[in-house]
Amino acid sequence: MKQKGPPRLPYYIIGALSMMLALAAGWTRLAVQIDNYHYDWTLKLYPPVKPAQDAVVLAIDDLTYRKYTQRHMRRAMALGLERLTHAQPKAVAIDLILSEKSEDAEDQELAAAMKKISKVVLSADLVPGSGDWEEPYGLFAPAAAAVGHVHAEPDTYDGVSRYIPLWKAAHGTRHWALALEAARMATNAGPIGESPSEVTIGKLSIPIRAPRNPEKMRLMYVRYRPRGIEHVSLQDLIEKPGAAERLRNKVVFLGVTSQSMARDRLVTPNSAGTPMTGVEIHAHVYEAVAQQDYLRQARDYLVLLTCILLTLMTATGFALVNNWQSYAIAAVQIAIAHALPHFLFPRGIFFPLMAPAACAWLTGICCSAYLYFVVRKQLNRSEADRTRYQQAIHFVSHEMKSPLTAIQGSSELMSRYNLSEEKRKQIAGMINSESKRLARMIQTFLDVERLGEGQMDLKREPFCMQDVVIVCVERARPLAERKKIDLHVGELSPDDVSGDRELMEYAVYNLLSNAVKYSPQETKVDVATRTVNGQLMVSVSDQGIGMDDRELKKIGTRFYRTERAEKSGETGTGIGLSIVSQIVQHHGGKLDVSSVPGKGSCFTIVVPVLVAK
Ligand code: ADP
Repeated sequence: MKQKGPPRLPYYIIGALSMMLALAAGWTRLAVQIDNYHYDWTLKLYPPVKPAQDAVVLAIDDLTYRKYTQRHMRRAMALGLERLTHAQPKAVAIDLILSEKSEDAEDQELAAAMKKISKVVLSADLVPGSGDWEEPYGLFAPAAAAVGHVHAEPDTYDGVSRYIPLWKAAHGTRHWALALEAARMATNAGPIGESPSEVTIGKLSIPIRAPRNPEKMRLMYVRYRPRGIEHVSLQDLIEKPGAAERLRNKVVFLGVTSQSMARDRLVTPNSAGTPMTGVEIHAHVYEAVAQQDYLRQARDYLVLLTCILLTLMTATGFALVNNWQSYAIAAVQIAIAHALPHFLFPRGIFFPLMAPAACAWLTGICCSAYLYFVVRKQLNRSEADRTRYQQAIHFVSHEMKSPLTAIQGSSELMSRYNLSEEKRKQIAGMINSESKRLARMIQTFLDVERLGEGQMDLKREPFCMQDVVIVCVERARPLAERKKIDLHVGELSPDDVSGDRELMEYAVYNLLSNAVKYSPQETKVDVATRTVNGQLMVSVSDQGIGMDDRELKKIGTRFYRTERAEKSGETGTGIGLSIVSQIVQHHGGKLDVSSVPGKGSCFTIVVPVLVAK
């Protein structure tokens, strides 16, 4: 018998649905949060190898505030810049918005100090709400070599600063980030260049995302140096002459770090609860640019492709191989989904975890569940088939036993005793008819098996259905009499049909014997045939145990027996009706069944009438 494997398509359908669900889940707030946490964790797991090299924070700290107060801070800055002049820093980036006048003399001093250093980058900020630029005011603007924006872009979900916008534009004015301008000053590069894939500062380049999403393309993920940036207090610089040496040839980021005064403190993946000051964030950005140490976000289509490949891998694993191997493949692809971000992160690519991992898990779980249930169902079915098959063999051997015993007993009688000629003839006749019955029985079973497997052509001979019914009724009569059942033959159609008479006899006899078998004593079994629209119908109706709708649907399935039949105490194999339906089908007809539990059943063989030529 050909063994048909479980269907493969369902695994691909399950895979596709799971993937769509996982991708949809990847858009949810929770998924974005998980990706964020995972990003922060991997960032700490794979910190940049090199510490900060060039950038130093010149801190306007609590000490400086105490000495100079907010009011005279510009004097302190001027003094600090004066000291710096001799240390010849590569660039000085001032993270303070000098958009308003202060004490006139102090402003003049500061502007003069800036001019002396020459490579000073000032800050501009977008005013929240109006969207206008807050630029350095008239006195300072000409003293600055460049103006950079000081926006960090905290994550909209959790407020953590993971990336910064490379540039910001409003009302026709665009500013590059403060750190980028500082890098330009430090390398004496010309104007910052840009292409769809990168931003260039002299020989330095910063990869950016393809411009399909203009909002995201300007973001740069910052790899924060785990050991932070060196700080020099502005107060120390002013008062301790030696402090300036620590800033020699460095890129200085001047800004507020005072606990009480710094307004722009932000949480970063590295800050472990203590927010980082804006000026330090700019210094980290500068280091990432100067050391060319970037993180690129994996392109969306690559993430999608990975999800599709993982899903295909799992679905194919389940569709093609069996049990533990498919589970192993699912486990491997789950491991791949989790390992991929870790493999790519040290190589500078930030790959999201949630979408691929959700795809891998969901596809794996759904395909496993499907496999489990399908396999379990198949196992149950084959178990049931096996018991029924055993029953069938039991039944066949039992059925064959009675003619065999009769033959055996009779032949022994003949050989042992001197019997009269008449008795010998009678016994010989019995042996003959019993062996013929046995042969017919075997032939019918074999024929039906071969018919089922399509190895045999059906005989095509005309025969009269009326005769078939009469023969079968006579054969079933002793059974009916034993249960005092009235076997009533109704109207019989004289029409012929074409086919195999022996097989049709088997079918009709089976319906009759079932009707008797599954009916209580002293009831009635009706058999009749009639022709309607060229179809000959042989109906056998009884007043027996009947069947409900659920049982009716399964009737005719090989080895199926209703619970009612099992409880009735009547033995059976559940193959008779399946053989009947095959026989009827091979005659180009069908078997109709109607039944009411406890009231009775009516089985009708419907076959085409032979049209006389
Ligand atoms: P068997 O009678 O050997 O079990 P069959 O294939 O002839 O096998 O019948 C299959 C099942 O259909 C029976 O076990 C019984 O549950 C149900 N059945 C068949 N004929 C009748 C009937 N006349 N009334 C009620 N149930 C029937």
